[in-house]
Amino acid sequence: MFTARQIIDVFNGQNNCKIVYVPLVGITQAQAIRTLDYLKEKKKDLKINEFEISNQVLVIRLKEVLKGFSLEHFNHLIDSLVLFLKKQEIATTPTCVHCQNGDVNGVMKIDKIQFHAHQDCVSGTS
Ligand SMILES: [Zn+2]
Repeated sequence: MFTARQIIDVFNGQNNCKIVYVPLVGITQAQAIRTLDYLKEKKKDLKINEFEISNQVLVIRLKEVLKGFSLEHFNHLIDSLVLFLKKQEIATTPTCVHCQNGDVNGVMKIDKIQFHAHQDCVSGTS
């Protein structure tokens, strides 16, 4: 089951910009390059301002000030992105942010971003 959509977090940043965080734990260098190429190609269509992959988290900044940026458009962006990740088989299996293994049974927040994690891994760190 693909769960990326469930853990996508959105924050309001400065300057009227929304920031979307997509944890991609276990993403390889090659997959990261493909993802960045995809976003570069779709930048206009998806009305993306800036994007980067940092510490296995895809960070997308959207300019709300752009005219016509609606909830429908936001859903279009997320659906397109999730479909792309699924096709590329990127982060399709929930992976623990701590031990990088599967079979996760919980979530944890790091810097306010929600990640999949094992409950045991979470309790071991807190
Ligand atoms: Zn773990």
